Amino acid sequence: MRTGHILLIYTGGTIGMGKNPTTGALEPLDIASLLKQVQELRFIDTHVDIQQFPYPIDSSDVTPELWTRIVQIIQKDYDQYDGFVILHGTDTMAYTASALSFMLQNLTKPVILTGSQLPVGLPRTDGKENLLTSIELASAIKSDGKPYTPEVCIYFCGRLLRGNRTTKINADGFHAFESYNYPHLCDAGVEFKFHQHHIIKPNYEQPIITQTEMNPNVAVFSLFPGITEPVVRHMLEAPNLKAIVMRSFGSGNAPQQQWLVQALRNAHDNDIVVVNISQCIAGTVQMQRYDSGFWLHEAGVISGYDSTIEAAVTKLMYLLAHHENPQTVRHYLEQNIVGEITV
Ligand code: ASP
Repeated sequence: MRTGHILLIYTGGTIGMGKNPTTGALEPLDIASLLKQVQELRFIDTHVDIQQFPYPIDSSDVTPELWTRIVQIIQKDYDQYDGFVILHGTDTMAYTASALSFMLQNLTKPVILTGSQLPVGLPRTDGKENLLTSIELASAIKSDGKPYTPEVCIYFCGRLLRGNRTTKINADGFHAFESYNYPHLCDAGVEFKFHQHHIIKPNYEQPIITQTEMNPNVAVFSLFPGITEPVVRHMLEAPNLKAIVMRSFGSGNAPQQQWLVQALRNAHDNDIVVVNISQCIAGTVQMQRYDSGFWLHEAGVISGYDSTIEAAVTKLMYLLAHHENPQTVRHYLEQNIVGEITV
């Protein structure tokens, strides 16, 4: 049932920052001063309620606890709103979007993250357009009365992207996000062009499934020519480590060195899950294509297919929190859970 209400959740980020008068550096402001700058909000049809985190943060300070808090807010008020817009710093927005996609399954309402490269109070800000369009997208409905985008998305600079397919690609430009391995869900120009066959179709008969636990005992490492054994071993022996995202070359290849083979086999035998994703920004892992990938498969390394790094890390955190057995974690890693990989 439509309520005509959207919930705006403010976590922090550049969009709501202003200059510290002493240091000149940007720091988070409170939402009241932020939204006073956006007069246009008064002309939007949808009623917008606002919920602010007690201490708005730079998104470099995001932790899994913040994701849990967002999930709890959405779960509590789920029936009261047509959709949710989350204002968030751009630096880790793709991690939060990916995490939320696993923590909020069978979503039947849009959850759209947005932010900006320039604070909303500055004349050339991109924040107003991102905010206003996100609110419109979160309340947009099809002729059957259902929302256009019932999934976790990122809206930025004219593009609505699947959250768990998105990566921050630019530290300066307004075109800051892209989903190289998945088509846009909507292009927002003069009109909204929704690409409906790429949007998740939830089961409207089933309730939302929320998860609040994440297990952060994961690590990421990138291979490079000349990588040394002590560095890899040191990481694999880190206390409490449960899983590693290994960023390999090309279609999932790695140096064929005996010490690396042995280190990854030992990791497997010690119940550490190793997921292989490519350092390339587009394309997928196919470990069977070359000898230099085949041995990884033989050593028990799991394919991350065309996953982003953000989706791989948060999928591991989610799976490790819910499954004790590493074999079960390995099994689900190779399944497409919420549109994060193409299998
Ligand atoms: N450092 C900021 C943040 O991620 C950058 C931004 O919002 O664009 O919170």
